[in-house]
Amino acid sequence: MKSIREIYKIGKGPSSSHTMGPERAALLFQQRYPQATSFQVTLYGSLCKTGVGHGTDRVLLDTLGQERTKIVFSHQEWEGMHPNTMDFSAFVEDMEIGTLRVESIGGGDIRFPGQDSPEGEEVYIEHSFAEIADFCRWRYIQSLPEYVELNEGPEIWDFLQEVWQVMKNAIAEGLSAEGVLPGGLNVQRKAKYLFEQPANRHETGLLEFQRIAAYAYAVAEQNADNGTIVTAPTCGACGVLPAVLKYAQETKGFSDEKICRALATAGIIGNLTKQNASISGAECGCQAEIGTACSMAAAALAYLYDQDMDQVEYAAEVAMEHHLGLTCDPICGLVQIPCIERNAVAAMRAMNACNLSYFLTGSRNISYDMVCRAMKETGENLNHRFRETSEGGLAKLYNRRGR
Ligand code: SF4
Repeated sequence: MKSIREIYKIGKGPSSSHTMGPERAALLFQQRYPQATSFQVTLYGSLCKTGVGHGTDRVLLDTLGQERTKIVFSHQEWEGMHPNTMDFSAFVEDMEIGTLRVESIGGGDIRFPGQDSPEGEEVYIEHSFAEIADFCRWRYIQSLPEYVELNEGPEIWDFLQEVWQVMKNAIAEGLSAEGVLPGGLNVQRKAKYLFEQPANRHETGLLEFQRIAAYAYAVAEQNADNGTIVTAPTCGACGVLPAVLKYAQETKGFSDEKICRALATAGIIGNLTKQNASISGAECGCQAEIGTACSMAAAALAYLYDQDMDQVEYAAEVAMEHHLGLTCDPICGLVQIPCIERNAVAAMRAMNACNLSYFLTGSRNISYDMVCRAMKETGENLNHRFRETSEGGLAKLYNRRGR
């Protein structure tokens, strides 16, 4: 597995696979052909179907140059092709001087067809939670953060401090912003409203929900407004983990150092899911994005609340198990409905999963490795209409009937 740095990417929303990945690919292609006078980029699959709503064309034009770049949306059947495929061509005058096919595989990563992701070194030898747990048991390693430090070195803590700072900034900025999100859906920002509603202090459950939901909305709305966020593991699901960490820190007084250790725990869960299943909505539906974010958040919470490694695994497993089958059907291809609200609901579900793991880990039947395999199989069998194409579900009904 690669470094957990590959899970946490700091950048601008709204989509890791539709903006961050294409931006990286365009920069790489531009560097290969500095002499080019013009470019053409052809978008296939999900990039074609939801590229405009997700801002793919905007980021490609900004990177390669508005006046010299042509974007082609190809509705050609993409059977056998990765659902987020782009073809780049470079020209000098009318002569084509180079081409490159790139796949945007989720979380901002890119890959060339038939090859592993070209980015990042392999850092971890273990490939499953079972292998990690075995490794830790034999070496008397008590927690995932210790395992992360052993493999990544102590420098990882500076990186995670930066990640946590950006997450906190996104919450603060989202809580102070008002107005309508861009894209034409007329979606009002709600984080500030949620946060400021008077709550009955005796209703602890309601207060908890209000706070966590407000934080999740804040980050997800920043993402939808092209703000700076951290993928966790993607842009669309970026609000879940910061929301629960912020609430845990506020209510239990955890230090920033402890929160970074929780981020390391969550990073391993994200990494395993990316390696053994997928974190891409175009590949496996929203279960791969929000489901993974929920598992990461549940594992982070379990670590913070002093649960052992078995409990951390169980919390992550419960969180994923109850997202299996979750489809991706963003209205108008925007990362707004259902995405923003879904971040808040998943953050609450992470709290529930962590509470269950406190009591029931000893009687569990399903491992995290197994639920990852189930997620992958489920995702691969989801009809393409429910994998970030905006051709099914809410996206289809909304387009037909309006509100
Ligand atoms: S529905 Fe889920 S997977 Fe699809 S764009 Fe929204 S957050 Fe991402």
